Parts: sequence; C-alpha cells; structure tokens
Amino acid sequence: MKIPQKGLSKEEIFQTLRSYKSADLDWKSGRVFGYIYDPGEKVHDVIDDAYTLYLSENGLDPLSFPSLLRLENEVVSMTANLLGCDNEVVGNFSSGGTESLILAVKTSRDYSRATRPHIKEPEMVLPITAHASLFKAAHYLGVKPVVTPVHDDTFLADVGAMRDAITDNTILLVGSAPGYAHGVVDPIPEIAALAQEKGLLCHVDACVGGIHLSYMRRLGYDVPDFNMNLPGVTSLSVDLHKYGYAAKGASIVLYKNKELRKFQIWACSRWTGYTVINPAVTSSKSGGPMAAAWAVLKYMGDDGYKEIVTEVMAATKRLIEGISRIDGLRVLGQPNMCMFALASTTEKINVYRLADKMKAKGWYLQPQFARDNSPSNLHVSMNRSTVPQAEALLKALAETVEEMKQEEIDQETRDLRAELKKLSLRFDEETFFKLAEMAGVTGVAPPERMEKVNMLLEALPCDVSEFMLTEYLNNMMLLDGDSD
Ligand SMILES: *Cc1c(COP(=O)(O)O)cnc(C)c1O
Repeated sequence: MKIPQKGLSKEEIFQTLRSYKSADLDWKSGRVFGYIYDPGEKVHDVIDDAYTLYLSENGLDPLSFPSLLRLENEVVSMTANLLGCDNEVVGNFSSGGTESLILAVKTSRDYSRATRPHIKEPEMVLPITAHASLFKAAHYLGVKPVVTPVHDDTFLADVGAMRDAITDNTILLVGSAPGYAHGVVDPIPEIAALAQEKGLLCHVDACVGGIHLSYMRRLGYDVPDFNMNLPGVTSLSVDLHKYGYAAKGASIVLYKNKELRKFQIWACSRWTGYTVINPAVTSSKSGGPMAAAWAVLKYMGDDGYKEIVTEVMAATKRLIEGISRIDGLRVLGQPNMCMFALASTTEKINVYRLADKMKAKGWYLQPQFARDNSPSNLHVSMNRSTVPQAEALLKALAETVEEMKQEEIDQETRDLRAELKKLSLRFDEETFFKLAEMAGVTGVAPPERMEKVNMLLEALPCDVSEFMLTEYLNNMMLLDGDSD
C-alpha cells in the first residue's frame, strides 16, 4: 500500500476504518471474557473526552507540560492511597502492565548491581503462574527467570519451593495478586517475609487485581493480604486500564521509597541532542492515557467502583456456582476475585473444542494451556459489561457441553491426540511438519477452528511452540505488495 497521492475525505476514512473492524471481537456484546474492561457508555464519554483533550500533549518533558507532571503525581497518589501505602512510597505512570513490570525488574537489577556488584548473572524467582510479561522483562533485561511450581488444586505459589530456588545470584522474588490464569492471590505475606529474611527485593504483580481487590476489601469481602505496606514488599504494579476501567495505556508501578525508585530513572546528556530524563521506558508519549486515567478515577469515585465491584462479584459467584453444577466442567482452585479458569472433567469435553463452539455462538473464552499441574482450561474474566450476560453464558455452556457429550470425536482429532501423546518420546523436524499439517497449520491465515492448533501448541516443547509462534507472526506481518 502507498500513501494516497491526494488525501481522502474524513467520511471515506471513517467508513474504511469502521469496515476494517468488522472481523474484530464484538466487545460491546458483553460476551467477550478477556481483553476488555468496559465501564459503560456514560463513563466512556468522560474517558474519551479527557483522552482527546490531552491527545497531543507530550509526556516526554514534564517541565514543558507541567500539567502532565501534576496529573501523574495525582494519579499515582490516588492509586497509592487506595493500596494503603505510607508517605515514603513513590511511583510512576506507565503504558501498561508490561511496562510497569519491565521497570520493576530493571530497577531491581540496577539496584542489585549497585548494592551487590559481585552478582554477574542475576536471577529472579517466580511461580509458573506469574504473568508472561515477567518472563519478557527477564528476557529483555538479562535476568534469569527461575520458575517454581504451584500447589496442586489451589494453584498458589509454593513458598517452600521458592526458598529452595534462591541462590547467591537471586535478586528478586515475585508473587501475583492474583495470577491472571486462575485468579488466585499468592501468599504474598510469606513471599515478602522470605525476601526480607534473605535480603532480597520482592515485587507484587497486582496488575490485574490491585484496584478490584482493594475495593473488595473495603466492601468487607475476604481478601488475602497483598499490599505495599506488608513487611518485605519493595515494589508493586497495578494496571488502571484493567479494573480501573481507564483507557488502554495506563498502569502504575510503586516503590517502597525513592532510594529504590532512583534505579528506574534514565538520564542521558552525552549525545548531541536535547537532554533526556525519563522515569519510564517510553520517551515521547501522548498525555491522553494519563488524563483519561485521572478522569476515570475522579468520575467513578470510591462509590462508583464499589458499585461495579459488588455487581461483578455477584455475577461471578453465580457463574462459578452454575459452572460447578454443569456435569463435565469444573472451576480450578478458589478464585479470589472476578476471574477464573474452567476445566473439563471428562475426555469427551475438550475445552479447546468447547471454545471453538462457543465462539461460533458469539462467546469468547480464552484458551490456556496445560502446564505442570494446571490442566487445559478456558479463562473467564468478568467485568461490568459481561454482568448482564452471565445467565446466558451459563445456559450456552450447559447446552454446548450437552451437545459435545452426544458427539463422536472425529478420526482426525483422535489421530492428532494419539500422535501428540507420543511426542514426549521423540521430537524432530519431520514430526513437527507432520503434526503442523494434522493441526491444519498450513498457511498464514488462522484456521477457522483453533482446537487442533491449541492441542498442538500445548503439547509441543515450549521452545518449539515459541519458535513456531514467532515465525507465524513474522510471516503474518508483511507488506501487502498492493500498489494502491
Ligand atoms: C494483564 C497483566 C499483565 C500485563 O499487562 P499488560 O497491560 O497487558 O501489559 C501483567 N500481570 C498480570 C497479572 C496481568 O493480568
């Protein structure tokens, strides 16, 4: 594609943009149980206007746009207060959970370089339920992730295993509040106490849970402790663009004190251009996400969040109880908030096939692979917009499970299953191509039904599936060659 010689009209542009969206998930349906945190039309209006008001302001330089510095300090302060922080706590705004976690890991690495310079190959200990972006942060920053198991059935971090995983090179322990996959909060007080005992840093990944769990606690729900004020916790991340219902591009990373946060900041005066001083990873950035996050916190108020949390928790309870009554399904562990994973109790119900069938009926549930003691499952995240759909979801799940019980599993799927069972015995290039073909992964376009692809990706050694996913995206993101 080329830039058009003559610019298009606004009408034409918006017509095209809208048409491009037609194959996207219809998140306004309330039937999408991941990716989307929708506070409803009225709140969206405020978010959109605040975002637009600050769209062009540049967060690169707080001295040129002092209002952005003020907004950042106020958003961080509101969030820190909600999380029960003392006056020593400091923090920054970032573009999302991933950036907050990259910052927390970078800060830990650089703090350790300064205070424990003998460590040349730093390690961080994290349960297998820790979010993928922590593995990404470790990879980007040259920190080795040392993965520990979680307990059977509860999926809670095994703190004993974390203790055993600590070496002379360990710099950081991580716990999640909650882990995304199962929605269970790790035993943060114990992880933090262990870090303190060993003189290590401890990060709490409360990206998805920080806001929601804090309001649950205020409403009197039973919520495990995960706050910044726990002895031993040195940093915490919390996303505003999840259950803060802010526009995307909004997260906060908090530190125990500014002596630690110092290691997050980057300054550069050694090139020929303008002086750079960045608190976060990005440099030039729109003021939109920050202004929108500020606006949503102010607009919702404690009362607004409490109302949403109450609604969402009631619907989640009904869903979890309902799913537990469906013969063939079960919910994994004891979810602490409004997100959970459902698994199958019978060979007849392959959850990936269930996801395909539900998708064909307009429901989006997120496949999650079997890893260690966590079986294949589908993830459900509730939010305000999915509440009215909870009963309908239960009905659709029950019906689809019944349908599947009546069906014979087709020969192709059975063959693939048999081949995958043999996989652990031997793996080579020939096997790989054979399996890929059986799974229907032949071109760049994703197959209509993902069941077999998910079965394959789940069964392959992680190095191989990650290689495959990389190749796939690399081939999908190509120039289209069109001349118009
Ligand atoms: C969503 C999430 C992240 C990553 O956040 P992004 O905003 O998608 O970058 C990290 N940790 C947890 C627990 C999450 O749920």
